[in-house]
Amino acid sequence: MHWRQPEIKRTKTVCTYCGVGCSFEMWTRDRHLLKVQPVVEAPVNGISTCIKGKFAWDFINDKERLTTPLIRDREHNCFREASWDEALSLVARRLLEIRDAHGPDSIGFIGSSKASNEEAYLTQKIARLIIGTNSVDNSSRYCQNPATMGLFRTVGYGGDAGTIADIESADLVVIVGSNTAENHPVIASKIKAAHKLRGQKLLVVDPRRHEMAERADIYLRPKASTDLIWASALSRYMFEHGYADLDFLAKRVNKVEEYRRSLEPFTLEFAERMTNIPRGQLAAAGEMIGQAKSVCLLWAMGITQHSHGADTSTALSNLLIVTGNYGRPGTGGYPMRGHNNVQGASDFGCLKNVFPGYEKVTDEKVREKWAKAWGIDASRLSGKIGQDNFMMVEEAAQKRLKAMYVIGEETAFSDADSENVHKAFREIDFLVVQDIFMSRTAEFADVVLPGCPSVEKEGTFVNTERRIQRFYEVMPPLGNCRPDWRILTDLAARMGHPWGYTHPSQIMDEVAGIAQMFAGVNYERLEGWKSLVWPVKPDGTDTPLLYTDRFHTDDGKAVLYALEWKAPDEDADNEYDLMLDNGRMLEQFQSTNQTGRGPRIWHEAPNWFVEVSPELAAERGIESGAWVRISSRRGSAELTALVTDRVRGKTLFVPIHQGKPGVNEMTGEHHDPDVNTPAYKEVAAKLEVLPRA
Ligand code: SF4
Repeated sequence: MHWRQPEIKRTKTVCTYCGVGCSFEMWTRDRHLLKVQPVVEAPVNGISTCIKGKFAWDFINDKERLTTPLIRDREHNCFREASWDEALSLVARRLLEIRDAHGPDSIGFIGSSKASNEEAYLTQKIARLIIGTNSVDNSSRYCQNPATMGLFRTVGYGGDAGTIADIESADLVVIVGSNTAENHPVIASKIKAAHKLRGQKLLVVDPRRHEMAERADIYLRPKASTDLIWASALSRYMFEHGYADLDFLAKRVNKVEEYRRSLEPFTLEFAERMTNIPRGQLAAAGEMIGQAKSVCLLWAMGITQHSHGADTSTALSNLLIVTGNYGRPGTGGYPMRGHNNVQGASDFGCLKNVFPGYEKVTDEKVREKWAKAWGIDASRLSGKIGQDNFMMVEEAAQKRLKAMYVIGEETAFSDADSENVHKAFREIDFLVVQDIFMSRTAEFADVVLPGCPSVEKEGTFVNTERRIQRFYEVMPPLGNCRPDWRILTDLAARMGHPWGYTHPSQIMDEVAGIAQMFAGVNYERLEGWKSLVWPVKPDGTDTPLLYTDRFHTDDGKAVLYALEWKAPDEDADNEYDLMLDNGRMLEQFQSTNQTGRGPRIWHEAPNWFVEVSPELAAERGIESGAWVRISSRRGSAELTALVTDRVRGKTLFVPIHQGKPGVNEMTGEHHDPDVNTPAYKEVAAKLEVLPRA
């Protein structure tokens, strides 16, 4: 019998994992993913991907995918299946009831860093327009919000100063608190190639000796939580050794003298004493930065997830300003974004203080503009800054926040101090979770709505370099799932706002018509492999390199921001005598809700382990493979020891992915007061060796 197999379909998509924003073709037949094919036209990655982009897609057809709405049966404490009509009607009715009974700020929304820009926009539109609250946030609260604050304070835009091409072309790349080779592998490959083939210099500063540290021309290994000190000491060094760009400072920077005076305490001697970096190494790093023609500085969670991460991020940006390393090709500050669309979730308004395009909710004229565009009276838009993720959880735990709507975020696992988060979810009156799996967060929900992964819908993402890219529907939604933008549109209609979007391009057109930053963005200009880097002018001209002639401040000048070092909120003591660090691995992603499905990725790194330094191992008789318990003041975990010089002295490191319940049983409530980012990296701990079970 002759029959013809269905044709292979080739569809462009954008990776759903890290913020590099690799794009590629997916070759499919029906729902079967035959291969991931990177192509030379891809603007970020060309023909490169990492293991996750290439292979971590088994989750799409996993048998545990949610395929129909679920409603909690309170009598039997279980979920029952429901129709979309019943589930959405219940959500609409309960949210409006709670708003009317307790006020708009009794409800909080957490948008998804995995969902599209259009979906982020609708999330904040429901919060602001229908509920009347600015309590909307996304997971950037837990990663790069401190970096964004540092950039707001100094140069004005909460995004990378240039593009990945600038990083590639820089004379010197400085990597601080970022395990780039594992967390942003394709960017790391470009740096490795530039370093090896073009003679690009590489300076790495990190307490953990990861792959990029091994490759560095100079590697500085500071005591954790002291980065503001060495960065400020190097700024002082620049002034003292003739490397400060005085012409640039005179023409383009405010508060130079005030800042210079604030550097008084930051001598090399002081920096050596506080950071444990020998002053000769500090001076060598100062010479390397001072002599470089162009410097790109990359940083990530090793800087931001501390009790003063915003200040340290500011200090790094200060150092770039002092040396004139903004506004030229191959220069600038680059906070490395973790999730594929954590930049876009913020850009499109899932933040407590800004509308899409970072337009301030406290500005009356801005509120009038958005109200007019949305066809409502300006008095209906709140000018009060809302609650962020951290505050929502605290308020819910105190029974003051009555409802939350969480989209695609694994709050119950990924937030610090998870026992407190679980308490909050047990206390809250009404919890809606929109996700693709029954996540640990969804287990607490009253209603679970099955959304779609990116391959089952259309939309756009923004990567770490502010690049907006389209992704297309590779296969139709599984079962009864719906694209998240459609769920939010249907919900709004049930709450009396029939917006009627039938395609995400209409949502983007609406944003472009209101938010100046996206004025020239439309789907046609993003067709296929085309992309735009924001801000985008109405004529479609985009801005790969920021600050070429003015900074994004009122008078166009950068600001040197004076700082003081503050000690971490939690440090080792006699009982908890070690410090516990944590971070990501190449082979997994976050909670493993996606990479933990199917055989192709999970088996690469299935086991949880703790890295123990050779010094500590010798002192306590620990060998690789030993079974140990690590405990903090909040909780403990039992896992396998791995003795390695990636960590030093009394520092431990655990990956964030594995474990039941996971590392956040041990992290605490302390946080950066400027941005409410938890200090995930400041955990005092102790270690016991256990007999093998
Ligand atoms: Fe995906 Fe990031 Fe890997 Fe690129 S580097 S394939 S965006 S996980």
